[in-house]
Amino acid sequence: MTAVLPLISLRSVCKTYRADGVAVVAVRNVSFDINQGEILAVMGPSGSGKSTLMNMIGLLDLPSEGAIHLEGANVASLSEDRRSSLRARSIGFVFQSYNLLARHNAIENVALPLVYCGIGRKERLRRAEQSLEVVGMLRRATHFPRQLSGGEQQRIAIARALITSPLLVLADEPTGALDSRTGAEILALFAALNRTGQTIVMITHDPGIATQCRRIIRLHDGELVGDETQVPVLPKRGVAS
Ligand code: ADP
Repeated sequence: MTAVLPLISLRSVCKTYRADGVAVVAVRNVSFDINQGEILAVMGPSGSGKSTLMNMIGLLDLPSEGAIHLEGANVASLSEDRRSSLRARSIGFVFQSYNLLARHNAIENVALPLVYCGIGRKERLRRAEQSLEVVGMLRRATHFPRQLSGGEQQRIAIARALITSPLLVLADEPTGALDSRTGAEILALFAALNRTGQTIVMITHDPGIATQCRRIIRLHDGELVGDETQVPVLPKRGVAS
């Protein structure tokens, strides 16, 4: 019987920044696996290394020491070009501030990652429609970001993250700019996506978000100080609600 590989494995991962001759150890000796189909929260106070860890899991940066494997491949052994194209195809990013392009309407924003995958315009728009439908925003396809509420913009950003059918959705404080009710709706959307099999990692300092994830990784001063599995407080059902 062949063992199932973790989607992502981190082994003794360290990241040291050097600024003005001073070394800052942002992540020290962190090891854990992310399995396909998981939804997990990475928690920790400001400065604990969450963004640094997210950048490495998202293939934006490499560890100073230790190894990260994506589906069994050591990401440090890839050329920068290979790593970029792997990132474009495998990781869907969601940010606190949505990061939508103001001059493009919703469907164009959602379709954008497919430009980097070399997919033609007609197919891009077809897939963007599908992705908008998944997040309940198809009726907003031709609206521009300024015409949309924060929660709607975040749904568009999630549709954009999903369009490449990524192995992993990586969300950095995805509810940080939203009121609590809208934030809860976005979390319900993530939970519903996870029920369809989507692997999701959320970086957050909000304990309320973490209670909705089955697993919580805790960082403090760059070290992993907790890796707990819990029964999540499930939000209401439905992907597009
Ligand atoms: P968090 O996301 O939890 O707030 P970060 O990963 O941003 O934590 O930062 C972890 C530590 O690394 C902090 O001490 C921070 O000042 C430091 N750090 C982050 N990025 C850099 C950088 N580019 N150069 C130097 N130090 C950095």
